[in-house]
Amino acid sequence: MPTPPLPVNRADFDQVIVPTFAPAAFVPVRGEGSRVWDQSGRELIDLTGGIAVNVLGHAHPALVAALTEQAGQLWHISNVFTNEPALRLARKLVEATFAERAFFCNSGAEANEAAFKLARRFGHETGGAQKHEIVAALNSFHGRTLFTVTVGGQPKYSDGFGPKIEGIRHVPYNDLEALKAAVSDRTCAVVLEPIQGESGILPADQSYLEGARELCDAHSALLIFDEVQTGVGRTGDLFAYMHTGVIPDILTTAKSLGGGFPIGAMLTTERIARHFGVGTHGTTFGGNPLACAVAGAVIDIVNTPEVLDGVRQRHQWFRERLERIGERYGIFSLIRGRGLLIGCVLSDAWKGRAKDVFDAAEREALMVLQAGPDVVRLAPSLVIERADIDEGLDRLERAIATLVGA
Ligand SMILES: *Cc1c(COP(=O)(O)O)cnc(C)c1O
Repeated sequence: MPTPPLPVNRADFDQVIVPTFAPAAFVPVRGEGSRVWDQSGRELIDLTGGIAVNVLGHAHPALVAALTEQAGQLWHISNVFTNEPALRLARKLVEATFAERAFFCNSGAEANEAAFKLARRFGHETGGAQKHEIVAALNSFHGRTLFTVTVGGQPKYSDGFGPKIEGIRHVPYNDLEALKAAVSDRTCAVVLEPIQGESGILPADQSYLEGARELCDAHSALLIFDEVQTGVGRTGDLFAYMHTGVIPDILTTAKSLGGGFPIGAMLTTERIARHFGVGTHGTTFGGNPLACAVAGAVIDIVNTPEVLDGVRQRHQWFRERLERIGERYGIFSLIRGRGLLIGCVLSDAWKGRAKDVFDAAEREALMVLQAGPDVVRLAPSLVIERADIDEGLDRLERAIATLVGA
């Protein structure tokens, strides 16, 4: 007889988990598509997609099949050996993008850590020790390792952990003149999110990305796009750079790549990958068969016209309704973002109240996200049903009406 599971609830969190998070009051136990059930059996609509991760919703049959099939074959083999799912996934990513080489890891932070280390190694080998500066945008988010919080340029995440990584320069986002002033022959890389995610779903201007590309070329620096949040169909293209026509030297992705199974990837060209020779970087779990089998199934499904066109169509459905809600209650001043990465910018009267909307939505059995205190963020499944969108936005409207009435 298997041991029955230990009974636990939300109160246990405060007793046994390191308090880096403050999760909602309910505990989800099951998901299917864009619906989630909690311990009490309450059914919620999920417009968060696990923060842009559950790219095909919960328990998608093709992903369950890929995972369980691989689970019966081979879970882990170490990087002393290669494996078929990793090779297949790399083939698919290389075929679908500018890239010629992939490095697999387990998270967005690790993908960026690899990208920054590779850029530094590239700088060192092509321009000497002084070519080590990384130029990044203020208010960007690249992960929580010490290197990535330092590059992220948000003191609230990087201060108070002792000496920081040196040689990082921060510039205001979307300010090409500031970028010009910061990039020099000492620069080994410029790193940008095509849409700043965590700090408010703020898209880069086309001319900014083009200008960044030109600056990198002029100074033999690498252009890194952090597509951890925007990648894998989220914006209606397989990767956001495809819409802009600006091609990076290194692209990092994670969140949606595994559809909920942890995996990250750094993609680059052969010319740059060469600077990471045998033994210069590594990982125990990166490229493991389970993660790569699931990610391979994700790419097969997401990288199709049906799904990508569907993302653009769903964006329109969301946008029209959100704009109406915004006008009716005076709550949103702007709906921004691309595809199914949507930011509802709170109007002046509502500034700082994204958490109130989050809480009110939860009371209506709706899961939404914040992106900073002034933006309500939606990042649902790319294949969310029309009925779930309509019902979800009905619930959002009820939540907002309650807040207005209160
Ligand atoms: C979430 C995120 C990361 C960090 O990814 P983790 O998997 O949490 O390490 C990095 N960059 C961007 C743009 C992100 O949105």
